[in-house]
Amino acid sequence: MIRSFLSTFFFLFVLLSYGQINGNKDGLQFNSTTIKVTLLGTGDPQPIMERFGPSILVQAGVEVLLFDAGRGCLQRLQQINLTYDRINALFLTHLHSDHIVGLPDLWLTGWLISKRSVPLTVFGPKGTKEMIMYLQQAFSFDINIRIEDDKAPIDGSRLSVTEIQQGTVYEKNGVKVIAFEVDHGPVKPSFGYRIEYNGHSVVLSGDTRYSENLIKYARGTDLLIHEVVIAPDTLSKSDPKYAIFAHHTSPEQVSKVFNEVKPKLAVYSHIVKLYGRNENELIKRTRANYSGLVIIGEDLMSFTIDDTVSINEWRNK
Ligand SMILES: [Zn+2]
Ligand SMILES: [Zn+2]
Repeated sequence: MIRSFLSTFFFLFVLLSYGQINGNKDGLQFNSTTIKVTLLGTGDPQPIMERFGPSILVQAGVEVLLFDAGRGCLQRLQQINLTYDRINALFLTHLHSDHIVGLPDLWLTGWLISKRSVPLTVFGPKGTKEMIMYLQQAFSFDINIRIEDDKAPIDGSRLSVTEIQQGTVYEKNGVKVIAFEVDHGPVKPSFGYRIEYNGHSVVLSGDTRYSENLIKYARGTDLLIHEVVIAPDTLSKSDPKYAIFAHHTSPEQVSKVFNEVKPKLAVYSHIVKLYGRNENELIKRTRANYSGLVIIGEDLMSFTIDDTVSINEWRNK
């Protein structure tokens, strides 16, 4: 009786441990035929706990690619048990601070903790080289002391920057990353990205107003992740927040994009809400003009793309 109780207990223990291991490995995805996309941060510059800064992880086969490094991206990576040394490349959409403030933490703390031993390749618009050069200078005291005192691998402290233009910017292990120009008002250039693998794709809008070029590059994609701004209809040009509104895409305009692109699934991320507008209104205004599948993204929500696109909710935030 006791023995059978113990063996049942042991069996349950093994089962639970196995579940745990699978959960822990969830952040990694080797040799898979699917694309996995994880929203690490779905917010805007507002410092709120529910939505961290913009950052999206794309895993395709052996490639682990990060798009933008907003506030808290390192913490979110930790939550899915993915360490800095696993990231093959970082792609920046543009140099607005909400998309890059997480970079020093990702890079320096990530290097210290993971003992990364190779430089991180960073792709970004013109200006990225200069920004990184100054960051390296700003943190030179820490970098030097970590190498001397903590014996951190010197090459892991480095960032190797490539400034990009529209077109294919990365092609490795069957994964292709195509950058395309979007329209983020005076922030030029600003990029969106299309990531292709194994006959499937995901498109990330970056920050943009309604963009015909985005539609051209996104057409037929499986998953489209698009930014949005929601404001009162009465917002006038003299309003101090008008510039924010004018540099992003309204729900009605995004509906038009969705109707043109026809993704299997459309997801909102980087959600800018002005003057108390809320997400119910956002989805209502979108669905008034678009009948396809659309959802509001949340931090750590993920998507698996093969012949279908499945949504994986995160429950342990
Ligand atoms: Zn932004
Ligand atoms: Zn921006």
